[in-house]
Amino acid sequence: MHIVVCIKQVPDTKIIKINPKTNTLDRRSAPAILNPYDAHAVQEAVRIRNKVGGTISVLSMGPPQAVAIIKKSIEIGADRGYLISDRAFAGADTLATSYALSKALEKIKLETPIDMVVCGKHAIDGDTGQVGPGIARRLDIPPVTNVIEVIEVNDREKKVVVKRKQMDGYQVIEAGLPCLLTVEKEVNEIEYAPMPNMIRAARYEPVIWSVNDLHDVDKTQLGLKGSPTIVGKMFAPPKPEGGKRLEGNTDEQVKELVSLLSEKKSLFNFSLKNL
Ligand SMILES: Cc1cc2nc3c(=O)[nH]c(=O)nc-3n(C[C@H](O)[C@H](O)[C@H](O)COP(=O)(O)OP(=O)(O)OC[C@H]3O[C@@H](n4cnc5c(N)ncnc54)[C@H](O)[C@@H]3O)c2cc1C
Repeated sequence: MHIVVCIKQVPDTKIIKINPKTNTLDRRSAPAILNPYDAHAVQEAVRIRNKVGGTISVLSMGPPQAVAIIKKSIEIGADRGYLISDRAFAGADTLATSYALSKALEKIKLETPIDMVVCGKHAIDGDTGQVGPGIARRLDIPPVTNVIEVIEVNDREKKVVVKRKQMDGYQVIEAGLPCLLTVEKEVNEIEYAPMPNMIRAARYEPVIWSVNDLHDVDKTQLGLKGSPTIVGKMFAPPKPEGGKRLEGNTDEQVKELVSLLSEKKSLFNFSLKNL
């Protein structure tokens, strides 16, 4: 089984600052990390490989510094890493990103056929969740989104059974392989990296491809040129007004919350109905 996990380098949004003049992210104010959902995607691939055997590749599109997240994935347990890095990819929106990644996947597929592509649910900076389904559409494989548990992977019968998160519960579905999964954080716990993986990661050098290394690429579909998205306006959401901070221990806070909700009777009825 060959699993390819798409991984993105993102700024740590717990730390990052917004430039108040431009309302854009000040990327220098935070370290670049492996998108947390993608770390879970790599961990899940490791879990699957350890059960059914096979190889895990990771793939990223980004600047040369993105080698760091490939090394991080090797620490978690990936076997191979690919980075596509070229000025031609810069300024890509989700359409152009999924196009470039699908072209890289087609090239990887020529070396080793791919059974499963795994992506994170979304990237914590762009936050659209569009790249995974975009890749699936371009490769003409089923997208299975919001996966919270991989129940069964059957390499012989070429099928996977997963649990998907829904607004009001979950859904268990079966998909044929090859397919593309996007995973939620609940899918697993990230494990401590074993020492041999850390040593291997430190020495590991990923395969780096420029645009000219990929096959049959329509360059007008790449980067800023291939991105029909126009950013209309950027603004910081207004700070919420009013509200009350609950004090004390949990019991006291719950009592105070219930009393506050009781005062606003309609809200209380609504909450009870929806419990
Ligand atoms: C006009 C415009 C210009 C932009 N210019 C830039 C720019 O110059 N630099 C920049 O970083 N962003 C740029 N962006 C943001 C860019 O759209 C997103 O970074 C990118 O398309 C991924 O979208 P997302 O972050 O919403 O990912 P999501 O769709 O939320 O990500 C879902 C999953 O897809 C996979 N994935 C996403 N991106 C990558 C990747 N690069 N490599 C591998 N796997 C990936 C991961 O598994 C991830 O968990 C621009 C956006 C617009 C609209």
